[in-house]
Amino acid sequence: MSAQAQPTVVPRAIADGTVVVAGSINIDQRVTAARLPRPGETLIGTSASLAPGGKGANQAVAAARRGAPTVMVGAVGDDGREAEAVGVMAAAGVDLGRVATVPGPTGLALVSVGEDDAENTIIVVPGANGLVDAAAIEAHADVVEAAAVLVLQGEIPVEGIDRAAALAGGRVLLNLAPVCAVADETLRRADPLVVNEHEALVLLDQLAAGAGAGGESAAREAPARRSDAALAQALRSAGARSIVLTLGAGGAVVAEGARLVHVASPRVDAVDTSGAGDAFVGSLAASLAAGSSLIDAVRLAVRVGAFAVTREGTQSSSPTSDDVLPGGD
Ligand code: ADP
Repeated sequence: MSAQAQPTVVPRAIADGTVVVAGSINIDQRVTAARLPRPGETLIGTSASLAPGGKGANQAVAAARRGAPTVMVGAVGDDGREAEAVGVMAAAGVDLGRVATVPGPTGLALVSVGEDDAENTIIVVPGANGLVDAAAIEAHADVVEAAAVLVLQGEIPVEGIDRAAALAGGRVLLNLAPVCAVADETLRRADPLVVNEHEALVLLDQLAAGAGAGGESAAREAPARRSDAALAQALRSAGARSIVLTLGAGGAVVAEGARLVHVASPRVDAVDTSGAGDAFVGSLAASLAAGSSLIDAVRLAVRVGAFAVTREGTQSSSPTSDDVLPGGD
């Protein structure tokens, strides 16, 4: 990010137990048609909608709705879409003082859905998110250092992720989605590393190939079809202090120290699974920042994730403190 594009930041203390999310902010543009078009084909669609998204922003909304003081570090463009992109975060009470407005487009996810088979295609143009690099993160070192929990995902430049993890003074929650080649040191700071099954396999492949993960790869196991517990065990080779493997309707597996614990998700009628993982991560961060143990935090996060799949949308499907979560006593 160029020097003149940086916002003027007045350093100030942040509250104890603050969640800081350094990550992506997008506009999700969703169109539906009876089926997906073939290459070169134009189809008349059936609906179009615009909603704020981006994994970072989704997770910030989820953490704030769980009651955590939450600060977002990221960037939007000056293309007229910036207010829409941060609107739900603002309404949820996320502190947006560290969101820069930079020249160029806001991050855009173009989602096409074919209604006949629910297949989709997604093109993400990072736009402003691509400028959240090491220098941009350093401009907010004060909050990154002071965060009780720093939440990172894979939708900003890897240099930004690595710098943020290095600066963190508190706990680092690394949601490696999508998987990217972060430094070994970043993986070692993760407590927990959170991935779904697909991401787990991609990460293990990457580690086995030695891509971006140091020279110890020869000792690391290549992935095959594994049971969930074996997959969580294999992920320990990534070096993270703890692991949370999410399993959709199957809940999550937690690996911490010598413990390997499966946490079941409540059974619900799924309406829209988009955003479940982000609701899970945001809730996990809020619980950890409030002092919960990892296992207790995951027990609540699976209920938050299950709630999210019962609602349409991504940010809008995260529960507030007024919502009744499934799986209660
Ligand atoms: P992602 O969205 O990142 O792929 P998952 O699909 O694993 O992540 O979902 C994250 C969490 O959301 C799960 O651990 C689970 O608690 C909850 N969840 C997701 N899908 C369902 C479902 N169909 N039924 C109940 N809970 C679900």
